[in-house]
Amino acid sequence: MEVTTRRFRQNTEDACRNGNLRAVLDHATRYFQSKRAAALAVFDGREEHFARARAARLTALSRLPELLEQLEQNASAAGVRVHWATDAAEARALISGIARENGVRVVVKGKSMITEEIGLNEALQSAGAEVWETDLGEFIVQLAGEAPSHIIAPAIHKSRAEVAELFQEKLGLTGQSIPELTLLARQALREKFLAADMGVTGVNMAVAETGSVILVENEGNIRMSTTCPPLHVAVMSLEKVVATLEDAADVLRALPRSATGQRMSSYVSVLTGPRKAGEADGAKQMHLVILDNGRSKVLADPALAEALLCFRCGACVNACPVYQTVGGHAYGWIYSGPIGAVLNSLLLPPDDTRDTPYGCTLCGACAQACPLGIDHPKMLLALRQQLRTGSGFGALHTLLARHPLAYRAAAGTACAVDPDLNLLARLPGLPGVKGFARSRRLPSLKTPFSARFRALQTSRRKGDA
Ligand code: SF4
Repeated sequence: MEVTTRRFRQNTEDACRNGNLRAVLDHATRYFQSKRAAALAVFDGREEHFARARAARLTALSRLPELLEQLEQNASAAGVRVHWATDAAEARALISGIARENGVRVVVKGKSMITEEIGLNEALQSAGAEVWETDLGEFIVQLAGEAPSHIIAPAIHKSRAEVAELFQEKLGLTGQSIPELTLLARQALREKFLAADMGVTGVNMAVAETGSVILVENEGNIRMSTTCPPLHVAVMSLEKVVATLEDAADVLRALPRSATGQRMSSYVSVLTGPRKAGEADGAKQMHLVILDNGRSKVLADPALAEALLCFRCGACVNACPVYQTVGGHAYGWIYSGPIGAVLNSLLLPPDDTRDTPYGCTLCGACAQACPLGIDHPKMLLALRQQLRTGSGFGALHTLLARHPLAYRAAAGTACAVDPDLNLLARLPGLPGVKGFARSRRLPSLKTPFSARFRALQTSRRKGDA
């Protein structure tokens, strides 16, 4: 997919002018929020359960290298071929290689953000395979030639009428109601499952102590992608490991309630190796690709490592007033909403995401909604800080702030030459200052704050006397 994070401002302005999009988003995010609220209202001891889920994820991050090695050992012992990929290109080459070696012609895929992240579909198509997304929302966006616009509801931006039109145009099939449209997609995909040589899925969790891969879903398409074709490739980012099955159970208590408002998702598959002799189903060959793609670097940053706790429930996305207004595509890459703004900034080159951390009002609705207690506004502020430090203006500001005399001299000069900061706002190469000045009236610096403060203190003293 084309990455348009550099056009984030323009994307959001365009989205704000799209009244239909806002109506669809408003309806869908309200629906998710009300389902979640209803599920949490009857979730006894929810704070304790959320704390347990967070503890399980924190344990995983604090013991990551050790747990990943244990996962590799136990998965290999169960018959899984484990591969490591440093970046997206390596993962694409690895998986395309597996497809070529096995003469794969048709691939069915379960919904997975990680394969979107690495652009796997295009790579498999270049390797000569036909690739089908089998999650209903993913199927819709694939037919439309679009990227997903929500972590758990990829086609959230599409109305029923738009989907009916799409099915008519791309599949030549007519349906109007949601059950009719779902049936049409089911019929179209059923033959793909039966013809598939390879199934590709993401991983919700991988359990180090057993070498198992856990997949959570509601449609049954992921289970079919792992059982119909003879070959299954599961792709996980390295933070998806958990230490024990008990930890996985703690996470599973929090995830569906926060995501879709269900006590438990309709299908939870725990796969420990490929099909064994005497077993009725399962892929004959199973591969697990463990991908870094920048996460080790994130893990080493104390201000931002918390982003890796995320289990992609989407609660923060639904709660976000910015997402509710502009939708997922405005963010310009596959992740959207508060956690998307953080992840896009961490996983893409900084020059591509300079505006992304500013797409947030810092209202805190995301942090309040997150079952894992992730503090998105804090991370977005840290990202803004890093951008300022990396820019010429930020470096100058830091230098002056460390030397009070130089600071006062510079402020005095600015007061004399450019008291209203009009010149400063027009200087090239200062995008942060420009953006600030464009939407705000800057206070005049005719009298520096320090001088005004001193004058205030003096007048108070006189008043006291
Ligand atoms: S940051 Fe929290 S609320 Fe948002 S998707 Fe991740 S786990 Fe869910």
